[in-house]
Amino acid sequence: MNDLKNIENLVRPNIRSLKPYSSARDEFKDDGRWTADRLTVARPPSTVNRLPYIFLDANENSLGSPLDEDFSRYPDPRQMDLKVRLAVREQLSPEAIFLGNGSDEAIDLLLRAFCTPEKDNVIVLPPTYGMYAVMANIHGAEIRVAPLRPDFSPDAAAIRQATDKRSKLLFLCSPNNPTGNRLPEAFIVEMLETFPGVVVVDEAYNDFSGRPSLTNRLAGYPNLVVLKTFSKAWGLAGLRVGMAFADPYIISILNNIKYPYNISASTINHVCNALENAGQVERKILMILSERRRLEAALLQLKCIEKVYPSDANFLLVKTTGANKIYTFLCHNNIIVRNRSSELHCENCLRITIGSPEENEKLINALNRY
Ligand SMILES: *Cc1c(COP(=O)(O)O)cnc(C)c1O
Repeated sequence: MNDLKNIENLVRPNIRSLKPYSSARDEFKDDGRWTADRLTVARPPSTVNRLPYIFLDANENSLGSPLDEDFSRYPDPRQMDLKVRLAVREQLSPEAIFLGNGSDEAIDLLLRAFCTPEKDNVIVLPPTYGMYAVMANIHGAEIRVAPLRPDFSPDAAAIRQATDKRSKLLFLCSPNNPTGNRLPEAFIVEMLETFPGVVVVDEAYNDFSGRPSLTNRLAGYPNLVVLKTFSKAWGLAGLRVGMAFADPYIISILNNIKYPYNISASTINHVCNALENAGQVERKILMILSERRRLEAALLQLKCIEKVYPSDANFLLVKTTGANKIYTFLCHNNIIVRNRSSELHCENCLRITIGSPEENEKLINALNRY
């Protein structure tokens, strides 16, 4: 399944032959000044008229925006500014990168690209991130489950059993939400070697695992898609930016079916600026990891906590003496955690995000009073 021809055959026929929308920004291509001069940053209105070209092709308002910053121009539909920076960071070509409105957009588009409604199926490993199944339901793809074992390790035999010729996507979340553990790399490689469809590895939490990203396997596996997000370690959940990394063929399909201007100019600027502060992000990750250790130790002292599951993420899954009661008690103390007790193998489990040192202290104090 490592050959690109096979990947092409996995794509829905109507998507494979789609003639994508061609925007004004797509149709005017100059010597490169276009991106460099015009789309790097939103400019203050005073400089708008000094642009090298007069753009009368997109029905924008040349008089500018009713704001200090100018957003009167459509952004670059391919976000090359940001992709070039990310390409350096990830040591990949910009053509191997898709940017979406959160990684949720990439999940949505993967379903659209590969799954013919009422015919194809996807495989998920519950308990896991709920969006895979929601998107599959929206697009009319059958959901087949290959549950994790009670210790949250993956079950390759169950996956094989669930798989058939119409299995297009296998969602592997590593580290997994809500369980916190990462999946063994040997298992993921086994799936890349044997699964007949596309293997989607969601690395939303990988920055907290201390492990290399699966992006270093992209060259060998045209059936691999790696998802990352700016929402977690990068602290930019409000901006809504996610990434998919894959063979340029798969990325070209995602680009063909996305909304032309799916990332706003403001968002592109913010993320470009954030990338300049990667050192700050590294320090915050270290702080969260040290708080994770501290919180785990403190929780283990409490009578109402039966177990703290090992975590490679920025949250802890804990088994409690009574999840619903403790959840309600914490709510009354203005502390909101996630009740995961209705998920498979998660009876009486709460998922607790690692907060700031002060927030974690307040959580521990409240649980001490329970
Ligand atoms: C939070 C999360 C995401 C990120 O979603 P965005 O749309 O990028 O905010 C993706 N996958 C998993 C498993 C998550 O928990």
